Amino acid sequence: MPRRAPAGAAAHASPAPDADAVECVLLKHGEVFLRGRNRARFEELLHDNLRHALRRLPGATWVEKGRSVTMVGGEPGLDTLVESVRRVIGFNLVQPAVRVGSTLETIGDHAVRALRRAWQERSGGRGRISFAVRAKRRDKSFPLTSSALAAAIGERVCRQTGARVDLSSPDVQLTVEVDRKGSYLSWTRLRGQGGLPVGSSGRALALLSGGYDSPVAAYRAMRRGLACDYVHFTGAPYTDAASVYKAYALARELNRFQPGRTLWVVPLGKAQKQLAVAGAGRFQVVAQRRLMARTASALGQRLGADALVTGDSLGQVASQTVANLAAVDEAASLPLLRPLLGWEKQEIIDEARTLGTADVSVLPDEDCCSLLAPRQVTTSARVTDLRRVERRLELDELVGELLAGAWPLEPGTGCAVPGTALPGQTRA
Ligand code: ATP
Ligand code: MG
Repeated sequence: MPRRAPAGAAAHASPAPDADAVECVLLKHGEVFLRGRNRARFEELLHDNLRHALRRLPGATWVEKGRSVTMVGGEPGLDTLVESVRRVIGFNLVQPAVRVGSTLETIGDHAVRALRRAWQERSGGRGRISFAVRAKRRDKSFPLTSSALAAAIGERVCRQTGARVDLSSPDVQLTVEVDRKGSYLSWTRLRGQGGLPVGSSGRALALLSGGYDSPVAAYRAMRRGLACDYVHFTGAPYTDAASVYKAYALARELNRFQPGRTLWVVPLGKAQKQLAVAGAGRFQVVAQRRLMARTASALGQRLGADALVTGDSLGQVASQTVANLAAVDEAASLPLLRPLLGWEKQEIIDEARTLGTADVSVLPDEDCCSLLAPRQVTTSARVTDLRRVERRLELDELVGELLAGAWPLEPGTGCAVPGTALPGQTRA
């Protein structure tokens, strides 16, 4: 039996159960249901994340939970709801629908309307259109079997609209699901994000630079259930603020896929200079990456992260050879995950476009990695060589200073959090 749960803390509008037709969105659960005994926890997280997404919308909303399906509706209207819930990771299918009374007559009326609506959306009602009806009878007290229901509805739609039946590749698929509380009629099926509910695999700290790769990597980590905070290293005081603005805008886009999390900004410029003065030479870039890995690990541990995430892709640039990636791993005290290791650059850019991060990534900025970059970057850094450079610095102290200089931004709200300090850190 579906349970109804309020979506927003403040506002809660209920669908009138006996209203003629209630617009809503059906969300079909994804992989979450492969999870046997963990199912209840996964489902709880999925619904928490859904409620977070709905709270950002203007107007009251409602959520009803069924088996393997969740229904959502409310004041923001169908288009706004669909746009918002499509971003919630863990739902495979998103179907705008109407809930109507469970009589053949009523379902038939609304099927005709739904077909006309889909026709209008597709071609402004012009030309010919084909359709198929798929029916599912979850309420076994309904008098017709699923196939008899589909046939009866199909016949009526055909007769009243002149649309053609095509069961193999219809232009429009009408779906009728008969439930105890009513019947759901939908005219389109949109792909959801799929994946595991954010938070179900723990937490991570994603290293966010300004490029295409790292936001896509963070998204992929989220899709495997990791709730991601972000860290961005800037070349400050030797670079301007452009890269911070970009990281902020990227984190904001990414936060649309998860309950909003924090972006930490760490000025790295002075430490980069220290590495250069220590004679890093052609190891400069890898030495910087190791310092980022060390600092991000320390930050991540304080934040309760289980792993780091980067946008490295094997062989994409000189710093991303197996030897160099291994040298960076060696400096990280948290597991370093690289979701894009086997991806082509074009695949990454295509996904960045789909996610909406590409428009930000393409903007120019002064990347801290190009600051002090040697003309030639080694492709086979050895840990012994890097340690020789690092021994000339007080590494622990340096990491401590970098952490003390880290500042948090909340990309959902656009302002620094006054007085926010790292756990265990006091701010002046
Ligand atoms: P991206 O497109 O993400 O910038 P890239 O192709 O430019 O990646 P690199 O610059 O070699 O590759 O960086 C590899 C990874 O290291 C990035 O994907 C990111 O996770 C991390 N990284 C690099 N620079 C920074 C930075 N300034 N701040 C935080 N993370 C960084
Ligand atoms: Mg980069």
